[in-house]
Amino acid sequence: MTLAIDALDKLLTPHGAASAQGRVWLVGAGPGDVELLTVKALRLLHGAEVVVYDRLVSEAVMAEVPESALCIDVGKRPGHHGLKQSQINQLLIDLAISGRNVVRLKGGDPFIFGRGGEEMVSLQQAGIVCDVVPGITAAVGCAAASGIPLTHRDCAQSLRFITGHGRSGEPRLEDASLAAANQTLVFYMGLRWSASISAQLQAQGREGTTPVAIIENGTRPEQRVIITTLAALATTVEKEQPVSPSLLMIGEVVRYYRSAMPVSGAPVSATAG
Ligand code: SAH
Repeated sequence: MTLAIDALDKLLTPHGAASAQGRVWLVGAGPGDVELLTVKALRLLHGAEVVVYDRLVSEAVMAEVPESALCIDVGKRPGHHGLKQSQINQLLIDLAISGRNVVRLKGGDPFIFGRGGEEMVSLQQAGIVCDVVPGITAAVGCAAASGIPLTHRDCAQSLRFITGHGRSGEPRLEDASLAAANQTLVFYMGLRWSASISAQLQAQGREGTTPVAIIENGTRPEQRVIITTLAALATTVEKEQPVSPSLLMIGEVVRYYRSAMPVSGAPVSATAG
């Protein structure tokens, strides 16, 4: 049963005989493919009483929630503003205090760009037991689903997960080591600022020929992979109009995409895959 936010009041009245305090599980829902849920996440979902979820959680994952569970959508999407982070924190506290056991379901992994850390701290400060169940983060799911190894002995000795969205919008990539060769950069939330990301990395010395994969709806039936280069990233985004959620993977490893690309030699050109 899906519950509108304004219908919450009744739910927040004390619940259960002694109205013992409930607890909260911060659960990673993975990137979309239901089979990428952990066994623990699936067990918690099947037994869920209340599920608080957001926009990134796929329909396939939500289909695992029993009919009897209350599902509260707190996500932002066009035409639906969702709750502010502070309101989500308070909602989780109120639900637990009213005696509910809550599965807080978050896309990917709760501790990677998901504000799960803030939710955990706010629950702890309110004295509510909070357990964290990791999930497969988008980078790992998208890599597997597109055949792009995130590291490779020949060309990627390190891997960085970066937010493509700064606190006030445009990211500032001031760390010059980001432009070093032989590393894979994965930008979350990077679509909107992809032109800026491309310009900043090139200004710091990363080659314009560095291959880039834009992975849209990774691990889901509608997954699309667009291959381009750092120099051509902005024009490719303009032309292909990838939608959210999309991830940017930057580095030589992108040449392994479906192993159909030349692993060395000429830079790959912009093609949709
Ligand atoms: N906690 C999440 C990330 C939240 S930030 C995780 O660990 O995956 C949201 C960003 O994640 C999106 O803007 C997008 O860049 C990325 N993302 C999440 N799911 C994705 C998917 N299925 N395919 C591509 N990118 C995805």
